Amino acid sequence: MATYHIETYGCSSNRGESREIERALRDGGHRPADGPDDADVAILNTCTVVEKTERNMLRRAEELSETTAELVVTGCMALAQGDLFEGADVDAEILHWDEVPAYVLNGECPTVTPDAEPVLDGVVGILPIARGCMSNCSYCITKFATGRVDSPPIEENVEKARALVHAGAKEIRVTGQDTGVYGWDDGDRKLPELLDRICDIDGEFRVRLGMANPGGIHGIHEELADVFAENEELYDFVHAPVQSGSDDVLADMRRQHRVEKFREVVETFDDRLDHWTLSTDFIVGFPTEDEVDHELSMELLAEVRPEKINVTRFSKRPGTDAADMKGLGGTVKKERSKAMSELKMEVVGEAYGSMVDDRFEVLVVEEGTGDSVKCRDGAYRQIIVQNATERGVDVGDFLEVAVTGHNTVYAFGEPVDGTPAEAAGADDAGRVPGDD
Ligand code: SF4
Repeated sequence: MATYHIETYGCSSNRGESREIERALRDGGHRPADGPDDADVAILNTCTVVEKTERNMLRRAEELSETTAELVVTGCMALAQGDLFEGADVDAEILHWDEVPAYVLNGECPTVTPDAEPVLDGVVGILPIARGCMSNCSYCITKFATGRVDSPPIEENVEKARALVHAGAKEIRVTGQDTGVYGWDDGDRKLPELLDRICDIDGEFRVRLGMANPGGIHGIHEELADVFAENEELYDFVHAPVQSGSDDVLADMRRQHRVEKFREVVETFDDRLDHWTLSTDFIVGFPTEDEVDHELSMELLAEVRPEKINVTRFSKRPGTDAADMKGLGGTVKKERSKAMSELKMEVVGEAYGSMVDDRFEVLVVEEGTGDSVKCRDGAYRQIIVQNATERGVDVGDFLEVAVTGHNTVYAFGEPVDGTPAEAAGADDAGRVPGDD
């Protein structure tokens, strides 16, 4: 768990995005610091309206990069003029605000608090199914707080999911440190059965499976892929953090999988599902990662082409074995992270670009900035619909949208009036015939 300091400049949209970053960080078990000097990570959410603001942003970034906190710069100026920060020699990670929480997580799994109860936030129901994991990753501090997996019975989790649906949940997020090992403590991994039972609950809703390590789901990947193929309530989305394309580095990280196991999971889902989203994470600059290892990670990313990718620069967490390893010196981590982030934007941009001019059935999950709403298609890809009020679109609606453009990490769409996706015969991916 890390401590964070966040500074926000500019309009209400920036402030809203910072609130979302903070919410995600707190959900992940992180806590605010008293100031940048006490923080592990400093987040600067920038604005650029006039030249004077730009100068202030650069000066503040320089000040923050002199603290011991790792600096993340996000917001309008970071995205539109990221090169200015590099030119000013500010050592910062430039990220879209959506990517900041995963970056701060540092490759560790999200923390589920003890005896966490389900929470309904708007139409999103958060369902923690278990606490703890079956791993002992050398870089992880979360493990100290959470311990070995402790799984409540299936029936208990199904009842909690049912209560969420009755209370108005349209999207149930199944969460845990490592959802793939649910039931392992009882000697029987039960995630496929649990998901199947949740999907059987009466009502119109979607289910998103939270992070599942490749080592945990490898033993059940065929059964799991079948459950995905059989239940349209499940978003066809799997978050399986590989962390490295090098088996040597994975061994030093003490991950439970090797690259081949990860590939087998991906191939199985490719076989079973017409269209699905692979989300994965890479830690860049682990102490034992050499140039060849880094290239292996780049090659794996280019080969499996995940639609969602979190790239994290390795940072030491106190008390972990990796903190005692000699780190990579100089600017190596920064250069590798920059190279991988560029490849990521190319891969993800291509995925979102391929959606343009197609139609998709979506669920409106939450309000966005201004008068926009955030929607998710069947593969959990994010589609933004603007001028929602004028168009009569509300959170919780299921509708069909035509994708008109994209912004690399999400798409823009417009409602298609009077043509419900189901009536038009949408396929499993939500695509409607005749859209190609
Ligand atoms: S799976 Fe690894 S990173 Fe995740 S909580 Fe367990 S030890 Fe930490």
